[in-house]
Amino acid sequence: MSVTERTDVLVIGSGFGGAIPAYHLAAGGAKVVILERGPHLTAPDFTHDLRLGSYTRIVDLVQGDGITVVAGNCVGGSSVVYFAASLRAPGFVFDRRGSLGHRLWPSTLTRTALDPWYDRVEEALPVAEQSWDQVPYPGGLFAAACARAGRTCNPVPVAVDLARCTNCNWMLNGCHFDAKRSMLLNYLPAATAHGAEIRPLHEAQAIAPATTPGYRYRVSYTQRRRLPAAGRCGRDRGQDRGAGRGCSGHPGAAAALGSPARRCPASRRALLLGQRRPCVHR
Ligand SMILES: Cc1cc2nc3c(=O)[nH]c(=O)nc-3n(C[C@H](O)[C@H](O)[C@H](O)COP(=O)(O)OP(=O)(O)OC[C@H]3O[C@@H](n4cnc5c(N)ncnc54)[C@H](O)[C@@H]3O)c2cc1C
Repeated sequence: MSVTERTDVLVIGSGFGGAIPAYHLAAGGAKVVILERGPHLTAPDFTHDLRLGSYTRIVDLVQGDGITVVAGNCVGGSSVVYFAASLRAPGFVFDRRGSLGHRLWPSTLTRTALDPWYDRVEEALPVAEQSWDQVPYPGGLFAAACARAGRTCNPVPVAVDLARCTNCNWMLNGCHFDAKRSMLLNYLPAATAHGAEIRPLHEAQAIAPATTPGYRYRVSYTQRRRLPAAGRCGRDRGQDRGAGRGCSGHPGAAAALGSPARRCPASRRALLLGQRRPCVHR
């Protein structure tokens, strides 16, 4: 089945890079649709186990040429699986020059220029600094090693609700306690409160110039449905790899590792993006 819809703004991916502009554009009055290839999960779904079905459905492993990238694959993107260390890039990063002597970053991007934006995001997440009583054991150990070596170190600012955090060390599995301030807890709900629509299990496939007058791009995407899966290994990004909590509700489905999951029928659709420039909420 092929369906064509129209929207002002289409955001592909719901991590930091997608959720934050989605919020600002929706708050500014634009019709915003967010396509997210992974499932929409919440705290009870983030379990503390190493079953392939638990973490493989929210983490994607991309094995490239000489580099392997781990990235989130669910609503909230890598903000769900990241470690929430919230540091500001040091100024010298922006001054770096490439082998031809050119500045690597646009000249308008400096630490000073970015500081007000850091302020804003740190307030929205929000970010907190741990005291030495709150850092987990490995952090304390590292600090002690630094002290022994005659060095100092600071506890890292974290996007974590310290009162809720249990220091469980399962951050890669998503936060079971809603302590990690991922996009699930701030920008995404704020975006939906302003009318943005999040579509989990929707994977963008192609972007092309629109042929319909008044629209700029045509984005084709596939929609996948949650069907009983059996712990499929490997990259099947658009599908909910929900083995441990099988979509059919069979907790033992993870035992069937390696057996091919049933591919969900994917319907092809397209979204047309309007030319109207929405005002950005500040
Ligand atoms: C394990 C881990 C720990 C980390 N710890 C830290 C940390 O402590 N501090 C820090 O600052 N940074 C950390 N990072 C890095 C940080 O999380 C990322 O830099 C940041 O989340 C990137 O944001 P993004 O929006 O660009 O991408 P992502 O957050 O990865 O979001 C991309 C989203 O797009 C979706 N997507 C991709 N392709 C498609 C498609 N075709 N159609 C639909 N959806 C699609 C993906 O499923 C994903 O949800 C960590 C990352 C990881 C993986």
